[in-house]
Amino acid sequence: MEQVEAAASAHDAYSEGSEQAGLTAAEVLEVLWKEYAPFPWEPRYDPISEVVFTILSQHTSDRNSERAFKQLTDTFSSFEEIAQADTEAIAQCVNTAGLARIKAPRIKLVLNLILEKRGALDLYFLKEMPLEEAKAWLRQLPGIGPKSAAIILNFALGMPAMAVDTHIYRVAKRLGLIGPKTSYERAHEILERAVEPEQVYPFHVSLITHGRRVCKAQRPLCSQCVLAYACPSRDLGDR
Ligand code: SF4
Repeated sequence: MEQVEAAASAHDAYSEGSEQAGLTAAEVLEVLWKEYAPFPWEPRYDPISEVVFTILSQHTSDRNSERAFKQLTDTFSSFEEIAQADTEAIAQCVNTAGLARIKAPRIKLVLNLILEKRGALDLYFLKEMPLEEAKAWLRQLPGIGPKSAAIILNFALGMPAMAVDTHIYRVAKRLGLIGPKTSYERAHEILERAVEPEQVYPFHVSLITHGRRVCKAQRPLCSQCVLAYACPSRDLGDR
């Protein structure tokens, strides 16, 4: 199974313009696991909180979105109250996350849509759905794209959905796990299929960690990289 998925990943990478496939995703994880593990999974937030947090975190840092989320949840006593609140009052709370004029009405709209569709602000039913159906359900909500849907399903519910952020996208491209022309959306599908379901979260965390510490956007530290021996991009950095 693992070999079939890895081969599929390599094929996808080649077919979308990668010149050299390099290591498989499972092999990358094996190396990074030794470097950065363990990666204990525990829910960051409940699913509704995660929906609101992912909207706040779009186009800003974790720090700013955490401050905005705290301000929002300190100000209102429940998400039901936020759903009924004046948009301006929500915008004032989430100002630190930036784009408050877009994010505040979006939060209100998404909460009201969930209430309308489900009768309650509760998304635990998604865990009982097949993964693709759960993704599709979330993606019907405004502002919830493939990355946000994967974060909600993986971080809050422990489902094997691969969220691809800027670090994962960059590192995966450099390693040849995805091709240079692979879109963000397609990268989610390829990388999710490239590892076993139980490896999705460790793979996600290990690639982000590697991207932040070593395979940086500017001047990657290739001379210190544990993957350099097999990385097709190892001449990019400081060697
Ligand atoms: S060798 Fe360089 S480009 Fe390749 S993964 Fe390591 S840091 Fe990134």
